[in-house]
Amino acid sequence: MAHDAPQATGPSKLVIRNIGLMLSGALEKPILDADTIVAENGKITAIGHLKDVDVAGATTIVDANGTTVAPGLIDSHVHPVAGDWTPRQNQINWIDSYLHGGVTTMISAGEVHMPGRPRDIVGLKAMAVFAQRAFWTLRPGGVKVHAGAPVIECEMVEDDFKELAAAGVKLLGEVGLGGVKDGPTARKMVSWARKYGIQSTIHTGGPSIPGSGLIDKDVVLEADTDVVGHINGGHTALPDDQIQTLCEKSPRALEIVHNGNERAGLLTLRTAAELKQLQRVILGTDSPAGSGVQPLGIIRVIAALSSLGELPAEIVFCFATGNTAKMRKLDGGLIETGRPADFVFMDAAQHSAGKTLLESVRLGDLPGIGMTVIDGVVRSERSRNTPPATRVPRVVK
Ligand SMILES: [Zn+2]
Repeated sequence: MAHDAPQATGPSKLVIRNIGLMLSGALEKPILDADTIVAENGKITAIGHLKDVDVAGATTIVDANGTTVAPGLIDSHVHPVAGDWTPRQNQINWIDSYLHGGVTTMISAGEVHMPGRPRDIVGLKAMAVFAQRAFWTLRPGGVKVHAGAPVIECEMVEDDFKELAAAGVKLLGEVGLGGVKDGPTARKMVSWARKYGIQSTIHTGGPSIPGSGLIDKDVVLEADTDVVGHINGGHTALPDDQIQTLCEKSPRALEIVHNGNERAGLLTLRTAAELKQLQRVILGTDSPAGSGVQPLGIIRVIAALSSLGELPAEIVFCFATGNTAKMRKLDGGLIETGRPADFVFMDAAQHSAGKTLLESVRLGDLPGIGMTVIDGVVRSERSRNTPPATRVPRVVK
């Protein structure tokens, strides 16, 4: 159990009551008919109407004050380095700032901004194991950071992947950011990774910063990573016909990122909708990066896709919650009994033209965040980063 996250000590029972709207995170049924959630020892144990659930013995009670509760948002594409510091723009506390943007879980696409990042095989394996351990031990703001994502190099052999997996590494960094940029080598290594239970993603599109390269649709299809990383470019997108081909030919997750080409993101969304494969759409920020730290990146993508992509907001919230969790094999992302009690509380921002949270997002406004909960523990109250929510929840016990 050496690779497991530290857990809160002592029995706890969280009761959240007076929820105005409950978003499930599941595309099949994005809105739940319930106003109360109970979580014991960090896991959801009951969902329903207050009169029907057992709320006795609560150690914490939250009055949601009529706000919307959704699963905590998941950022499928971040580049952490060490603790809550990013050398890319030399900022500290960026992860805690994302918590104030509703993000409770992050997935590393490689710790590529590490100054002096080792590229020899022993060094890159050591750094991946270190990052996995360090981020699973330290949770800035309580955010779950799944890190330890080595960037593959041509000299790697199958035993390297076996060794990484045995050491607790579960992710590959973006294929293409290291020496492996050709389809056949990528395919071979991605299949080794998959054999040992390591998930993979790829840098789709033009180079992001000096030193990275072009990965086109043929390389993406041949590599067959679990995620088509930033299908809308990071920042430079592939031509439209290549993006459409990836949506049609690859069966894998289609990741739309904040730090990509917005038009290409909308094209991806429309193509996935036409193919009736919205369950493959997942969201990330691809940050910190050249364009900075974006604490509100995920809710900005949600508002953009809902408004410009003309999709109901409750559907788009699923992309950043249940879809990402399913595609990334995480146990969160859904409001369902047995799932981790990770929540974000939102309301329409003050003076939004939208009368409700869903209407405001559909009009392109950002939601106001009033609280976050991770593993059944209140981690933040009124967001210091979003526009102020009209109503905010309150801890009453
Ligand atoms: Zn990239």
